[in-house]
Amino acid sequence: MSDIQTYLKGIIRDVPDFPKPGILFKDIAPVLQSGEALRRVIDHLADHYRDQQIDRIVGIESRGFIFGTPLAYALGTGIALVRKPGKLPWKTASVSYALEYGTDTLQIHTDAVEPGQRVLIVDDLLATGGTASATMQLVQGLGAEVVGCAFVVELGFLQGRARLGGVDVHAILEY
Ligand code: AMP
Repeated sequence: MSDIQTYLKGIIRDVPDFPKPGILFKDIAPVLQSGEALRRVIDHLADHYRDQQIDRIVGIESRGFIFGTPLAYALGTGIALVRKPGKLPWKTASVSYALEYGTDTLQIHTDAVEPGQRVLIVDDLLATGGTASATMQLVQGLGAEVVGCAFVVELGFLQGRARLGGVDVHAILEY
């Protein structure tokens, strides 16, 4: 493991049975509370994407906003928001996707990205990939190109990467 992986594994907190029995929740709050950890995460992602000509970041509600915004600042891009239904005030595009039980919907402003822009999707954690894959559909539906998906944590055993259609996926650490 690299230095940052060992370091973050020592900080990210496992919370069993949250939000429901059987889920081992990876709590990144201690990363956010540490000035050093937050700086190392953002510096790592900025180094990784600096030369990839990203035009805009798309952050997924809500922890994707937290990591996406300082990354956008570091890369000199803007950030567009993908949110749960009913939160965005202007014209939206929507996508629904299957959960274990039922469906969920995400929305984006129709002018959040422009056709042809090179977009990086950011969230805190990749699990089954359903959320990131739905976000990809929203971005591609507006004519932009998804050039990557960035996460702090990947739960590799859930094989979420396979749902992201060959797009470059980068996670700082994997469980
Ligand atoms: P998925 O759509 O299954 O890839 O789930 C990704 C979203 O759910 C991310 O926004 C995560 O914040 C959250 N999530 C899913 N599983 C976990 C977990 N075990 N620990 C923390 N967050 C999770």
